[in-house]
Amino acid sequence: MFLTISTTGTPDRPATDLGFLLHKHPEKAQAFSTSYGTAHVLYPEADAERCTAALLLEVDAVALVRRGKGKGRGGAPDAALAQYVNDRPYAASSLLAVALSGVFSSAMRGVCNARPERAAQPLPLRIEIPALPARGGPELVRRLFEPLGWAVTAEPVPLDVRFPEWGDSRYVRLVLASDTLTLAEALRHLYVLLPVLDDAKHYWVASDEVDKLLRAGEGWLPDHPEHKLITSRYLSRRWSLTREAMERLELVRLAEADDSEVEEIDNAVEAESEAEEKPTPLAVQRRDAILAALRASGAGRVLDLGCGQGQLVQTLLKDPAFTEIVGVDVSMRALTIAGRRLKLDRMGERQASRVKLFQGSLAYTDNRLKGYDAAVLSEVIEHLDLPRLPALEYAVFGSARPRTVLVTTPNVEYNVRWESLPAGHVRHGDHRFEWTRDEFRAWARAVAERHGYEVEFVPVGPDDPQVGPPTQMAVFGMKVNDEKEAKAA
Ligand code: SAH
Repeated sequence: MFLTISTTGTPDRPATDLGFLLHKHPEKAQAFSTSYGTAHVLYPEADAERCTAALLLEVDAVALVRRGKGKGRGGAPDAALAQYVNDRPYAASSLLAVALSGVFSSAMRGVCNARPERAAQPLPLRIEIPALPARGGPELVRRLFEPLGWAVTAEPVPLDVRFPEWGDSRYVRLVLASDTLTLAEALRHLYVLLPVLDDAKHYWVASDEVDKLLRAGEGWLPDHPEHKLITSRYLSRRWSLTREAMERLELVRLAEADDSEVEEIDNAVEAESEAEEKPTPLAVQRRDAILAALRASGAGRVLDLGCGQGQLVQTLLKDPAFTEIVGVDVSMRALTIAGRRLKLDRMGERQASRVKLFQGSLAYTDNRLKGYDAAVLSEVIEHLDLPRLPALEYAVFGSARPRTVLVTTPNVEYNVRWESLPAGHVRHGDHRFEWTRDEFRAWARAVAERHGYEVEFVPVGPDDPQVGPPTQMAVFGMKVNDEKEAKAA
């Protein structure tokens, strides 16, 4: 079972730097014992132009079987021959991934004290695995590696070279080449994707596997087009773990997407105010409309769901009628900025006891959101993919169930009035959709119907006779009977 990693050098960057990056000296052959056998690291070639490190895993089939079975049951392992005579010693697989992470753990984390600047740089890489079990064949191998920046050669290995008519085995000879990746990224791709292709994990999947997957997948897995398949296969299709990982991946993806967006929010607000004829920016008019509706509802304890950088929270804090204000957002970065804006660290105790900020996704029910008087979703729904909207609906109207819910969203009909907006464009790069007034009303009425609320619509901004207002707001109030039920519950 083996794998080689090669790089080429330039006059100012000798290829043998690979030794520093891997923390393994090119002139030494080293052996490391693992619980499955021995891992060897050696360099078949090492000069300034080319350097190749090989990782060779000598698997102890007997130890492997003993580890997996033989516990309990009087210690007598099942003697079925298949357990000893299998492809484990020959095929690169999840064992190789485990060995990689053990033997090259610093390199995988991108740590290199001797050449710190080199560890952070992409380098020309060629990785070869002569026999890789690949369920899904060369086609899946390409789908997994190509989106990550690898040029992929995956050739099926014939079952038996003497009898080509027998067809191909489930192995491929894999060659990966790239000069856009760092060594750490390359190792983390292998660490996750080798077991995914092998699709037969050799050890029990424990819940810390989710952590391992997320750590190794940082920076590439959330946006990988096959992240579902990767996650479920990596976790051996254990549904509850897969779900946990998917949820956490989604949080990461949203938070990252949002990181770029957060900076844009203020700019967008400015752009909106510039495009506006009136002196009051639309964002301010929106907050005024929300404030008025909240006051009219008599709410004291308010949730600001998708609070962003906390402008509304700040506004609400100024009014003592709001006794508790909770800002929730999926983006840690937005919450950090909100905390700074509110000067949470310098706030008096009384004031501080009125405000809370925490991270959460509206796509999941959350008990922390129960028991409030009102919830605001200001310019949030359009940031979710349409298929996720029913989940948000349930989390807010089905599970949290505040008496009053305010939802604002752009009115797409008004977009023709924005001078700076080319026809057919949404207002913000991260808007997944923008609705007409009819579309928004149809959605809101259906939601109200399903969850026992009544709903009214309020225009925000100048109400244009043809295309309506720039922002539309729905004001949901829980129906009286439901309110009694909610109190009783
Ligand atoms: N409410 C603020 C911010 C709107 S921008 C305002 O009116 O100005 C949309 C916000 O929704 C962003 O801060 C984004 O991080 C947040 N968001 C997007 N998807 C989310 C989700 N699934 N759960 C919680 N917040 C989400």
